[in-house]
Amino acid sequence: MADVHDLRIVIIGAGMGGLGAALAFAKKGFKHIDVFETASNLGFVGAGIQMPPNIARMLDRLGCWEDMSRAATNVKGTSIRQGSSNVELSHVEMPDIEEKYGFPHCTGHRSSLAGGLFDGCKKERAVHFHFSTALVKINSFAPKPTITLKPRDGDEYTVEADILLASDGIKSVARAQMLAELGLESQEEDTGQAAYRIMLRRSEMAHDPEMLALLDSDTVVRWVGERRHIIAYPVSNHQIYNLSTAQPDSNFASATNATYTTKGSKAVMLKVYEEFCPLVHRLLNLVPDGEVCEWKLRTHKPLATWVHGSVALLGDACHPTLPHLGQGAAMAVEDGAVLAEVVSKMPSDGLHDPAAISKTLKVYELLRKPHCSALVDMATHSGRILHLGEGPAKEERDRLFRENGKTGSVPDKWASPDVQKMIYSNDCIQEARDKFARLYATL
Ligand SMILES: Cc1cc2nc3c(=O)[nH]c(=O)nc-3n(C[C@H](O)[C@H](O)[C@H](O)COP(=O)(O)OP(=O)(O)OC[C@H]3O[C@@H](n4cnc5c(N)ncnc54)[C@H](O)[C@@H]3O)c2cc1C
Repeated sequence: MADVHDLRIVIIGAGMGGLGAALAFAKKGFKHIDVFETASNLGFVGAGIQMPPNIARMLDRLGCWEDMSRAATNVKGTSIRQGSSNVELSHVEMPDIEEKYGFPHCTGHRSSLAGGLFDGCKKERAVHFHFSTALVKINSFAPKPTITLKPRDGDEYTVEADILLASDGIKSVARAQMLAELGLESQEEDTGQAAYRIMLRRSEMAHDPEMLALLDSDTVVRWVGERRHIIAYPVSNHQIYNLSTAQPDSNFASATNATYTTKGSKAVMLKVYEEFCPLVHRLLNLVPDGEVCEWKLRTHKPLATWVHGSVALLGDACHPTLPHLGQGAAMAVEDGAVLAEVVSKMPSDGLHDPAAISKTLKVYELLRKPHCSALVDMATHSGRILHLGEGPAKEERDRLFRENGKTGSVPDKWASPDVQKMIYSNDCIQEARDKFARLYATL
């Protein structure tokens, strides 16, 4: 092998993390990138997604932001409202996000994010997709990882990689096997929360001026109540209004299923939000019967390591998060980009030395783990604050919401200027460039 770009990179999972990693490695000039995905295609979830400046910066470097941003909503503010009354607790203006951080804070359709990354990959000769093919087992983690794969309609076969990147999501098979190999326990955590994801079309909202005002705005609205909230924003050139909720997980509590999703009952959904205001009722009432879909929100206890041998975990496989900070997909795409950056920096005399590959992957972990762990904790904390019931803690929260602006901070962490500064100004690629040599030398 002549140079680092000849390394065979095998990626498990074609979600945001896997697609982002494949594209980032291709853009860095790696020549052999194979992506294995259980599903037969990208399987677009009908849902919106927040695209904050830190993911926009990554997507721009990967050459796909311009296309994606066309249909996205450039968010100019957020309105945090009492769910029961629709009365505004706080309005955080965000007029200068692009000026401050180089990119706007946008909301978009998940299919445009995943589709844009996929289209970018398809233009790269180095990237090969193998859909309908599941990782069954990691047979060895080093020196060269070997894995067993199972095509949906075929026999199992084995593949060897120089580097294996597992972006197989919250239910990661790779994570479970890595932990077992290290003698550690897999500790998935039930958050006690579940989410409805809803998309309403302009034609469905057209009869209601109050709804249309939401759809035509460039504002993210969060309606908060005890143990539940709804976040909502326009996507797809203001043609679709996206709502994502969080409520106590009572429907999954008795029986979970393999995908953590279930067809829900509209009557139950309306009951869950019955204390909310008439505007919210009217929005939820637009969801057709039989089209209510609920997600179980799960996380995992912090992992002792993300790397073993020549295998690294990324995205939800190693830092699953509650969605309350809107950073899950951004973190997954950043992980892949940082991996491509550090592997491309690996000293060439380490090419035939598995220990050098492992050290390089460890640099990725050192760069990413503290940052992602802090964001995961913040998302959990933000959920706790947003879901407070009546009492002194809620009174204090609402006072802080009303004081918005004076302290540079609001209790809803995703909307809080101090948190935005911490997350949005963090250029993880520049950080990897600046710190690689020093961190590598410490290992
Ligand atoms: C309700 C809700 C709202 C959210 N809102 C936001 C938001 O606004 N902003 C944001 O940034 N994030 C949000 N997130 C989080 C975000 O969706 C995830 O963090 C992100 O998708 C993680 O990407 P990933 O690639 O790590 O995992 P995934 O997107 O889960 O992808 C994993 C892929 O691996 C495949 N796979 C799994 N097992 C195997 C196997 N054995 N072999 C082969 N392939 C396999 C799966 O089929 C899947 O395609 C939200 C999440 C939820 C649940």
